[in-house]
Amino acid sequence: MTTIILKPHKEESVLRFHPWVFSGAIARIVLDASHAASAPEEGEWVRVESAAHEVLGIGHWQVGSIAVRLITFGTDKIPDGFWQERIQAAYTMRERLGLIRKDNTIYRLVHGEGDMLPGLVIDVYGRTAVMQAHSVGMHRCRQEIADAVVQAVPEVEAVYYKSDDTLPHKADIREPKTGYLIGEATEGEYWAKENGLEVRIDWLTGQKTGFFIDQRENRALVERYATGKDVLNMFCYTGGFSLYALRGGARAVHSVDVSQKAIDLVNANVARNFPEAQNHQAATADAFDYLSTQREQGKQFDLIILDPPAFAKHRDAIKNALRGYQRINAKAIEMIRPGGVLFTFSCSQAVDKEMFRLAVFSAAAQTRRKVRILHQLHQPQDHPINIYHPEGEYLKGLVLYVE
Ligand code: SAH
Repeated sequence: MTTIILKPHKEESVLRFHPWVFSGAIARIVLDASHAASAPEEGEWVRVESAAHEVLGIGHWQVGSIAVRLITFGTDKIPDGFWQERIQAAYTMRERLGLIRKDNTIYRLVHGEGDMLPGLVIDVYGRTAVMQAHSVGMHRCRQEIADAVVQAVPEVEAVYYKSDDTLPHKADIREPKTGYLIGEATEGEYWAKENGLEVRIDWLTGQKTGFFIDQRENRALVERYATGKDVLNMFCYTGGFSLYALRGGARAVHSVDVSQKAIDLVNANVARNFPEAQNHQAATADAFDYLSTQREQGKQFDLIILDPPAFAKHRDAIKNALRGYQRINAKAIEMIRPGGVLFTFSCSQAVDKEMFRLAVFSAAAQTRRKVRILHQLHQPQDHPINIYHPEGEYLKGLVLYVE
Protein backbone atom coordinates (compact mmCIF):
# COMPACT_ATOMS: atom_id res chain seq x y z
CA MET A 1 0.00 0.00 0.00
CA THR A 2 1.19 3.54 -0.75
CA THR A 3 2.27 5.54 2.32
CA ILE A 4 1.53 9.23 2.83
CA ILE A 5 3.93 10.85 5.31
CA LEU A 6 2.73 14.08 6.92
CA LYS A 7 4.73 17.17 7.82
CA PRO A 8 5.62 17.59 11.51
CA HIS A 9 2.59 18.45 13.70
CA LYS A 10 0.16 17.86 10.82
CA GLU A 11 -0.92 14.61 12.51
CA GLU A 12 -2.67 16.55 15.28
CA SER A 13 -6.07 16.88 13.61
CA VAL A 14 -5.95 13.21 12.57
CA LEU A 15 -5.19 12.19 16.15
CA ARG A 16 -8.41 14.06 17.04
CA PHE A 17 -10.24 11.88 14.47
CA HIS A 18 -10.73 14.55 11.82
CA PRO A 19 -11.14 12.43 8.67
CA TRP A 20 -9.51 14.72 6.09
CA VAL A 21 -5.84 15.10 5.18
CA PHE A 22 -5.20 18.24 3.13
CA SER A 23 -2.62 18.14 0.34
CA GLY A 24 -0.65 20.93 2.06
CA ALA A 25 -0.08 18.69 5.10
CA ILE A 26 1.82 16.06 3.11
CA ALA A 27 5.62 15.89 3.31
CA ARG A 28 6.29 12.81 1.17
CA ILE A 29 4.53 10.04 -0.73
CA VAL A 30 6.10 6.59 -0.86
CA LEU A 31 4.46 4.67 -3.70
CA ASP A 32 4.24 0.91 -3.47
CA ALA A 33 5.84 -1.28 -6.12
CA SER A 34 2.66 -1.64 -8.23
CA HIS A 35 2.82 1.98 -9.44
CA ALA A 36 4.10 2.83 -12.86
CA ALA A 37 2.98 6.47 -12.52
CA SER A 38 4.53 9.02 -10.19
CA ALA A 39 1.45 9.63 -8.02
CA PRO A 40 -1.16 7.47 -6.30
CA GLU A 41 -4.21 6.62 -8.34
CA GLU A 42 -7.39 8.45 -7.36
CA GLY A 43 -9.48 6.18 -5.13
CA GLU A 44 -6.73 3.80 -4.05
CA TRP A 45 -6.26 2.86 -0.38
CA VAL A 46 -3.33 4.67 1.23
CA ARG A 47 -1.67 4.41 4.64
CA VAL A 48 -1.13 7.71 6.48
CA GLU A 49 1.85 8.19 8.81
CA SER A 50 3.07 11.03 11.00
CA ALA A 51 6.52 12.60 10.43
CA ALA A 52 7.75 10.22 13.15
CA HIS A 53 6.30 7.24 11.16
CA GLU A 54 3.51 6.51 13.58
CA VAL A 55 0.59 4.83 11.75
CA LEU A 56 -2.41 7.20 11.81
CA GLY A 57 -4.88 5.26 9.70
CA ILE A 58 -5.86 4.35 6.18
CA GLY A 59 -8.12 6.09 3.73
CA HIS A 60 -8.99 6.83 0.12
CA TRP A 61 -6.66 8.95 -1.99
CA GLN A 62 -8.26 11.89 -3.78
CA VAL A 63 -7.11 14.44 -6.33
CA GLY A 64 -7.71 17.93 -4.92
CA SER A 65 -7.19 19.91 -1.75
CA ILE A 66 -8.58 17.09 0.42
CA ALA A 67 -5.96 14.48 -0.46
CA VAL A 68 -7.08 11.62 1.80
CA ARG A 69 -10.40 10.79 3.39
CA LEU A 70 -9.59 8.54 6.33
CA ILE A 71 -11.75 5.49 6.86
CA THR A 72 -9.98 3.95 9.88
CA PHE A 73 -7.80 5.48 12.58
CA GLY A 74 -4.82 4.03 14.43
CA THR A 75 -4.41 0.95 12.22
CA ASP A 76 -3.20 0.27 8.71
CA LYS A 77 -5.56 -2.64 8.01
CA ILE A 78 -9.16 -2.82 6.96
CA PRO A 79 -10.55 -5.57 9.22
CA ASP A 80 -12.53 -8.44 7.70
CA GLY A 81 -16.23 -7.63 7.60
CA PHE A 82 -15.47 -3.90 7.88
CA TRP A 83 -18.31 -2.57 5.68
CA GLN A 84 -20.82 -4.93 7.23
CA GLU A 85 -19.85 -3.77 10.73
CA ARG A 86 -20.02 -0.03 9.90
CA ILE A 87 -23.33 -0.28 8.08
CA GLN A 88 -24.77 -2.46 10.81
CA ALA A 89 -23.76 0.24 13.34
CA ALA A 90 -25.49 2.91 11.25
CA TYR A 91 -28.64 0.77 11.00
CA THR A 92 -28.66 -0.01 14.73
CA MET A 93 -28.50 3.70 15.52
CA ARG A 94 -31.53 4.51 13.30
CA GLU A 95 -33.41 1.59 14.78
CA ARG A 96 -32.69 2.69 18.36
CA LEU A 97 -33.80 6.19 17.51
CA GLY A 98 -37.17 4.79 16.44
CA LEU A 99 -36.85 5.92 12.83
CA ILE A 100 -37.53 2.54 11.22
CA ARG A 101 -41.22 1.76 11.51
CA LYS A 102 -44.17 0.53 9.45
CA ASP A 103 -45.36 4.13 9.10
CA ASN A 104 -41.84 5.49 8.46
CA THR A 105 -39.92 3.53 5.84
CA ILE A 106 -37.84 6.51 4.63
CA TYR A 107 -34.57 7.35 6.37
CA ARG A 108 -30.92 8.13 5.68
CA LEU A 109 -28.88 5.06 6.56
CA VAL A 110 -25.41 6.53 5.95
CA HIS A 111 -24.55 10.22 6.12
CA GLY A 112 -20.88 10.38 5.08
CA GLU A 113 -18.53 11.69 7.75
CA GLY A 114 -21.46 11.74 10.21
CA ASP A 115 -21.41 7.94 10.10
CA MET A 116 -17.61 7.71 9.87
CA LEU A 117 -17.91 6.81 6.18
CA PRO A 118 -16.58 9.89 4.36
CA GLY A 119 -17.78 10.14 0.78
CA LEU A 120 -20.77 7.79 1.13
CA VAL A 121 -24.50 8.53 1.29
CA ILE A 122 -27.21 5.86 1.47
CA ASP A 123 -30.93 6.63 1.67
CA VAL A 124 -33.49 3.89 2.32
CA TYR A 125 -36.98 3.89 0.82
CA GLY A 126 -38.64 0.74 2.12
CA ARG A 127 -37.29 -2.19 0.08
CA THR A 128 -34.87 -0.06 -1.95
CA ALA A 129 -31.68 1.67 -0.91
CA VAL A 130 -30.22 4.45 -3.06
CA MET A 131 -26.49 4.95 -2.74
CA GLN A 132 -24.26 7.85 -3.78
CA ALA A 133 -20.45 7.91 -3.84
CA HIS A 134 -18.81 11.33 -3.48
CA SER A 135 -15.29 9.92 -3.78
CA VAL A 136 -13.62 7.55 -6.22
CA GLY A 137 -12.55 5.44 -3.23
CA MET A 138 -16.18 4.78 -2.30
CA HIS A 139 -16.99 4.21 -5.98
CA ARG A 140 -14.40 1.44 -6.09
CA CYS A 141 -15.92 -0.19 -3.00
CA ARG A 142 -19.54 0.14 -4.22
CA GLN A 143 -20.34 -3.55 -4.68
CA GLU A 144 -18.94 -4.58 -1.28
CA ILE A 145 -20.94 -1.76 0.32
CA ALA A 146 -24.15 -2.76 -1.46
CA ASP A 147 -23.67 -6.38 -0.32
CA ALA A 148 -23.20 -5.13 3.26
CA VAL A 149 -26.41 -3.07 3.04
CA VAL A 150 -28.62 -6.03 2.13
CA GLN A 151 -27.01 -8.08 4.88
CA ALA A 152 -27.39 -5.39 7.55
CA VAL A 153 -30.86 -4.11 6.64
CA PRO A 154 -33.44 -6.90 6.63
CA GLU A 155 -36.04 -4.87 4.67
CA VAL A 156 -33.80 -3.90 1.76
CA GLU A 157 -33.93 -6.07 -1.39
CA ALA A 158 -32.51 -3.73 -4.03
CA VAL A 159 -29.63 -1.26 -4.06
CA TYR A 160 -29.58 1.43 -6.74
CA TYR A 161 -26.32 3.28 -7.34
CA LYS A 162 -26.65 6.92 -8.43
CA SER A 163 -23.34 8.75 -8.56
CA ASP A 164 -23.31 10.56 -11.91
CA ASP A 165 -23.71 13.95 -10.20
CA THR A 166 -21.72 13.26 -7.05
CA LEU A 167 -18.38 11.80 -8.19
CA PRO A 168 -15.58 14.29 -8.97
CA HIS A 169 -16.16 15.44 -12.57
CA LYS A 170 -12.55 15.06 -13.61
CA ALA A 171 -12.13 11.53 -12.28
CA ASP A 172 -11.33 8.96 -14.93
CA ILE A 173 -14.11 6.45 -14.36
CA ARG A 174 -14.96 4.03 -17.15
CA GLU A 175 -17.64 1.89 -15.49
CA PRO A 176 -21.27 3.05 -15.22
CA LYS A 177 -21.97 5.53 -12.42
CA THR A 178 -25.63 4.56 -12.16
CA GLY A 179 -27.61 1.34 -12.08
CA TYR A 180 -28.75 -1.43 -9.78
CA LEU A 181 -25.96 -3.16 -7.84
CA ILE A 182 -28.37 -5.63 -6.27
CA GLY A 183 -31.91 -6.62 -7.25
CA GLU A 184 -34.24 -4.27 -9.06
CA ALA A 185 -37.46 -2.47 -8.24
CA THR A 186 -39.77 -3.53 -11.03
CA GLU A 187 -43.02 -1.73 -10.22
CA GLY A 188 -43.84 1.40 -12.19
CA GLU A 189 -44.75 3.69 -9.30
CA TYR A 190 -42.88 3.33 -6.04
CA TRP A 191 -44.33 4.62 -2.76
CA ALA A 192 -42.73 4.85 0.68
CA LYS A 193 -43.83 6.38 3.97
CA GLU A 194 -42.69 9.31 6.06
CA ASN A 195 -44.48 9.63 9.40
CA GLY A 196 -47.55 7.94 7.94
CA LEU A 197 -47.67 10.08 4.78
CA GLU A 198 -47.18 8.29 1.48
CA VAL A 199 -44.69 9.80 -0.94
CA ARG A 200 -43.81 8.74 -4.44
CA ILE A 201 -40.09 8.17 -4.81
CA ASP A 202 -38.47 8.36 -8.22
CA TRP A 203 -34.74 7.80 -7.78
CA LEU A 204 -34.21 7.22 -11.50
CA THR A 205 -35.17 10.72 -12.64
CA GLY A 206 -35.71 12.63 -9.36
CA GLN A 207 -33.32 15.08 -7.69
CA LYS A 208 -30.57 13.68 -5.44
CA THR A 209 -31.64 10.20 -4.28
CA GLY A 210 -35.30 11.00 -5.05
CA PHE A 211 -36.49 12.74 -1.88
CA PHE A 212 -35.25 15.28 0.68
CA ILE A 213 -35.23 13.26 3.88
CA ASP A 214 -33.47 15.96 5.88
CA GLN A 215 -36.61 18.05 6.44
CA ARG A 216 -38.66 15.32 8.17
CA GLU A 217 -38.59 16.82 11.68
CA ASN A 218 -39.08 20.36 10.40
CA ARG A 219 -42.09 19.25 8.36
CA ALA A 220 -43.60 17.78 11.52
CA LEU A 221 -43.22 21.20 13.14
CA VAL A 222 -45.02 22.84 10.19
CA GLU A 223 -47.92 20.43 10.78
CA ARG A 224 -48.30 21.87 14.30
CA TYR A 225 -48.39 25.45 13.02
CA ALA A 226 -50.65 24.88 10.01
CA THR A 227 -54.14 24.53 11.53
CA GLY A 228 -56.55 26.94 9.86
CA LYS A 229 -53.71 28.71 8.05
CA ASP A 230 -53.21 29.93 4.51
CA VAL A 231 -49.87 28.25 3.70
CA LEU A 232 -47.34 28.95 0.95
CA ASN A 233 -44.68 26.27 0.37
CA MET A 234 -41.92 27.76 -1.80
CA PHE A 235 -39.32 25.47 -3.43
CA CYS A 236 -41.67 22.59 -2.62
CA TYR A 237 -40.04 19.80 -4.72
CA THR A 238 -42.17 16.70 -3.99
CA GLY A 239 -44.33 18.70 -1.57
CA GLY A 240 -43.20 17.26 1.76
CA PHE A 241 -44.11 20.40 3.72
CA SER A 242 -47.43 20.69 1.86
CA LEU A 243 -48.53 17.19 2.92
CA TYR A 244 -47.85 17.90 6.59
CA ALA A 245 -49.61 21.28 6.35
CA LEU A 246 -52.68 19.59 4.83
CA ARG A 247 -52.67 16.93 7.53
CA GLY A 248 -52.36 19.69 10.13
CA GLY A 249 -55.64 21.20 8.91
CA ALA A 250 -54.42 24.14 6.84
CA ARG A 251 -57.19 26.21 5.26
CA ALA A 252 -55.31 26.40 1.96
CA VAL A 253 -51.91 25.21 0.74
CA HIS A 254 -50.05 26.60 -2.26
CA SER A 255 -47.00 24.70 -3.53
CA VAL A 256 -44.49 26.36 -5.86
CA ASP A 257 -41.45 24.97 -7.70
CA VAL A 258 -39.71 25.90 -10.94
CA SER A 259 -39.63 22.27 -12.05
CA GLN A 260 -42.71 20.83 -13.76
CA LYS A 261 -41.61 17.34 -12.77
CA ALA A 262 -41.61 18.42 -9.10
CA ILE A 263 -45.11 19.86 -9.44
CA ASP A 264 -46.36 16.61 -11.02
CA LEU A 265 -44.97 14.74 -7.99
CA VAL A 266 -46.61 17.16 -5.52
CA ASN A 267 -49.96 16.71 -7.21
CA ALA A 268 -49.59 12.92 -7.20
CA ASN A 269 -48.62 12.94 -3.50
CA VAL A 270 -51.53 15.17 -2.50
CA ALA A 271 -54.01 13.07 -4.52
CA ARG A 272 -52.75 9.87 -2.87
CA ASN A 273 -52.94 11.14 0.72
CA PHE A 274 -55.89 13.53 0.50
CA PRO A 275 -58.03 12.36 -2.42
CA GLU A 276 -60.89 14.67 -1.37
CA ALA A 277 -58.76 17.78 -0.81
CA GLN A 278 -60.01 20.93 -2.56
CA ASN A 279 -57.63 23.27 -0.76
CA HIS A 280 -54.33 22.54 -2.52
CA GLN A 281 -52.96 24.41 -5.52
CA ALA A 282 -49.62 23.91 -7.22
CA ALA A 283 -47.81 26.33 -9.51
CA THR A 284 -44.78 25.86 -11.75
CA ALA A 285 -42.93 29.14 -11.38
CA ASP A 286 -39.69 30.84 -10.45
CA ALA A 287 -39.85 31.71 -6.75
CA PHE A 288 -38.73 35.32 -7.12
CA ASP A 289 -41.23 36.00 -9.94
CA TYR A 290 -44.03 34.24 -8.09
CA LEU A 291 -43.56 36.28 -4.92
CA SER A 292 -43.40 39.52 -6.91
CA THR A 293 -46.60 38.73 -8.81
CA GLN A 294 -48.46 37.70 -5.67
CA ARG A 295 -47.31 40.86 -3.93
CA GLU A 296 -48.56 43.04 -6.79
CA GLN A 297 -51.93 41.37 -6.37
CA GLY A 298 -51.88 42.22 -2.65
CA LYS A 299 -51.80 38.58 -1.59
CA GLN A 300 -50.69 37.63 1.94
CA PHE A 301 -50.15 34.32 3.75
CA ASP A 302 -50.26 33.16 7.37
CA LEU A 303 -47.41 30.71 7.00
CA ILE A 304 -44.64 30.68 4.41
CA ILE A 305 -41.97 28.00 3.98
CA LEU A 306 -38.78 28.92 2.12
CA ASP A 307 -36.53 25.95 1.40
CA PRO A 308 -34.36 26.98 -1.55
CA PRO A 309 -31.58 24.87 -3.11
CA ALA A 310 -28.03 25.60 -1.87
CA PHE A 311 -27.35 29.17 -3.06
CA ALA A 312 -23.61 28.70 -2.32
CA LYS A 313 -22.11 25.46 -3.58
CA HIS A 314 -18.55 26.76 -2.93
CA ARG A 315 -16.85 29.20 -0.57
CA ASP A 316 -16.30 31.77 -3.33
CA ALA A 317 -20.04 32.01 -3.93
CA ILE A 318 -20.91 33.01 -0.36
CA LYS A 319 -21.37 36.71 -0.96
CA ASN A 320 -23.89 36.23 -3.75
CA ALA A 321 -25.62 33.52 -1.79
CA LEU A 322 -26.12 35.82 1.20
CA ARG A 323 -27.59 38.46 -1.09
CA GLY A 324 -29.95 35.81 -2.50
CA TYR A 325 -31.05 34.72 1.00
CA GLN A 326 -31.63 38.33 2.01
CA ARG A 327 -33.67 39.08 -1.12
CA ILE A 328 -35.95 36.06 -0.94
CA ASN A 329 -36.48 36.39 2.81
CA ALA A 330 -37.35 40.07 2.54
CA LYS A 331 -39.92 39.24 -0.14
CA ALA A 332 -41.42 36.52 2.05
CA ILE A 333 -41.49 38.58 5.28
CA GLU A 334 -43.33 41.35 3.42
CA MET A 335 -46.04 38.88 2.46
CA ILE A 336 -46.73 37.44 5.91
CA ARG A 337 -50.05 38.51 7.35
CA PRO A 338 -49.62 40.22 10.76
CA GLY A 339 -49.16 37.51 13.39
CA GLY A 340 -47.99 34.98 10.79
CA VAL A 341 -44.99 32.69 10.70
CA LEU A 342 -42.06 32.13 8.34
CA PHE A 343 -40.06 28.89 8.17
CA THR A 344 -36.84 29.77 6.38
CA PHE A 345 -33.92 27.44 5.55
CA SER A 346 -30.46 27.29 4.08
CA CYS A 347 -28.82 24.01 3.07
CA SER A 348 -25.56 25.62 1.87
CA GLN A 349 -22.72 24.06 3.81
CA ALA A 350 -20.50 27.06 3.03
CA VAL A 351 -22.98 29.46 4.69
CA ASP A 352 -22.84 28.88 8.45
CA LYS A 353 -25.56 29.50 11.05
CA GLU A 354 -24.33 33.00 11.91
CA MET A 355 -24.07 34.13 8.29
CA PHE A 356 -27.54 32.84 7.52
CA ARG A 357 -29.01 34.51 10.58
CA LEU A 358 -27.36 37.76 9.57
CA ALA A 359 -28.88 37.53 6.07
CA VAL A 360 -32.35 36.96 7.56
CA PHE A 361 -31.73 39.80 10.04
CA SER A 362 -30.94 42.13 7.12
CA ALA A 363 -34.08 40.96 5.34
CA ALA A 364 -36.22 41.66 8.42
CA ALA A 365 -34.64 45.09 8.91
CA GLN A 366 -35.32 45.93 5.26
CA THR A 367 -39.05 45.26 5.70
CA ARG A 368 -39.22 47.20 9.02
CA ARG A 369 -41.53 44.50 10.47
CA LYS A 370 -41.26 43.31 14.08
CA VAL A 371 -39.72 39.85 13.85
CA ARG A 372 -38.96 37.33 16.59
CA ILE A 373 -37.18 33.95 16.40
CA LEU A 374 -39.37 31.09 17.69
CA HIS A 375 -37.21 28.09 16.77
CA GLN A 376 -33.75 27.44 15.40
CA LEU A 377 -33.86 24.31 13.28
CA HIS A 378 -31.25 21.97 11.89
CA GLN A 379 -30.72 18.62 10.23
CA PRO A 380 -32.36 15.53 11.78
CA GLN A 381 -30.86 12.64 13.71
CA ASP A 382 -30.31 10.40 10.67
CA HIS A 383 -28.02 13.15 9.26
CA PRO A 384 -25.75 13.20 12.32
CA ILE A 385 -22.76 15.49 12.74
CA ASN A 386 -19.57 13.72 13.70
CA ILE A 387 -18.30 15.80 16.64
CA TYR A 388 -14.77 15.61 15.21
CA HIS A 389 -16.01 16.92 11.85
CA PRO A 390 -18.05 20.06 12.53
CA GLU A 391 -18.10 20.80 8.76
CA GLY A 392 -20.88 18.21 8.59
CA GLU A 393 -23.45 20.72 9.84
CA TYR A 394 -25.24 22.04 6.77
CA LEU A 395 -29.00 22.50 7.23
CA LYS A 396 -30.10 25.56 9.18
CA GLY A 397 -33.55 26.96 9.70
CA LEU A 398 -35.29 29.77 11.55
CA VAL A 399 -38.95 29.96 12.46
CA LEU A 400 -39.98 33.60 12.72
CA TYR A 401 -43.04 35.28 14.16
CA VAL A 402 -43.86 38.35 12.12
CA GLU A 403 -46.00 40.95 13.85
N1 SAH B 1 -38.65 21.71 0.20
C1 SAH B 1 -38.34 20.53 -0.57
C2 SAH B 1 -36.90 20.49 -1.04
C3 SAH B 1 -36.46 21.69 -1.81
S1 SAH B 1 -35.11 21.40 -2.86
C4 SAH B 1 -38.71 19.29 0.21
O1 SAH B 1 -39.16 19.39 1.34
O2 SAH B 1 -38.56 18.20 -0.34
C5 SAH B 1 -35.10 22.86 -3.79
C6 SAH B 1 -36.17 22.96 -4.87
O3 SAH B 1 -36.11 24.27 -5.40
C7 SAH B 1 -36.00 22.03 -6.06
O4 SAH B 1 -37.16 21.24 -6.19
C8 SAH B 1 -35.83 22.95 -7.27
O5 SAH B 1 -36.53 22.49 -8.42
C9 SAH B 1 -36.46 24.22 -6.78
N2 SAH B 1 -35.96 25.47 -7.37
C10 SAH B 1 -34.70 25.79 -7.73
N3 SAH B 1 -34.63 27.06 -8.17
C11 SAH B 1 -35.89 27.56 -8.10
C12 SAH B 1 -36.46 28.84 -8.40
N4 SAH B 1 -35.72 29.84 -8.87
N5 SAH B 1 -37.77 29.02 -8.19
C13 SAH B 1 -38.53 28.00 -7.70
N6 SAH B 1 -38.04 26.78 -7.40
C14 SAH B 1 -36.75 26.57 -7.60
